[in-house]
Amino acid sequence: MASGQLSRAEALACTNCRHACHVMLYCDTQNKLFGEIPIKHIILMQMRFDGLLGFPGGFVNPSEESLEEGLSRELLEEIGVVVPISVENHVQSCPDEDVDTRLILHFYAKKMKEEQILEIERSAASTAIDHGHEVLGMVRVPLYRTEGGGLSSFLSHSFIGTARQQLLDCLLRFGLISPQTLCHALSISVATHKRTTKELNSALALMKKKPHR
Ligand code: AMP
Ligand code: MN
Repeated sequence: MASGQLSRAEALACTNCRHACHVMLYCDTQNKLFGEIPIKHIILMQMRFDGLLGFPGGFVNPSEESLEEGLSRELLEEIGVVVPISVENHVQSCPDEDVDTRLILHFYAKKMKEEQILEIERSAASTAIDHGHEVLGMVRVPLYRTEGGGLSSFLSHSFIGTARQQLLDCLLRFGLISPQTLCHALSISVATHKRTTKELNSALALMKKKPHR
């Protein structure tokens, strides 16, 4: 187990910790972008209320429900359908090193059928009670690279907590991308991010200079 990681049992032994569970729902697909670029896998993330990208899920109270039942309950609120989660879907648990080490972050992954993922996308935008509140919309992770970007641009956005690392870890763990392709995408992301910083600084400088009414 990597440093900082806890087994599910060790994590649950911390009775005065808070627990949050999130999940990567994904499927294989034969579809092609523009009829020629294989999409390969659909991976669901969401634009959260705070403007950050993250995975569906939320806080769970293990004294009232199992981690997996709690995650399923959160999913119903955020995506509008029942998705059973089991212990076999558990990927890792670790304390939130950045903000609060008494918060334990549990991460799960579940491979589904393409029809189920499409159904989730439909219900997340229609029947889910959190739509337009905690969740602004589901998004797919582009795994390919086009002239205009793709995975590298996606990775240069801002993510909640350890969500970007969880995504990268799962891409490799489940063989959804090769380490070489991921490495290449990340190096382009760094360049994209530098350009974004420059653009934001110029926009800020302009705002400070312009008189506003
Ligand atoms: P939520 O109710 O989904 O906002 O999640 C509960 C807590 O978990 C919040 O404090 C978030 O900061 C944190 N969190 C949400 N998503 C992730 C994620 N993918 N990785 C790590 N922490 C997260
Ligand atoms: Mn949530």
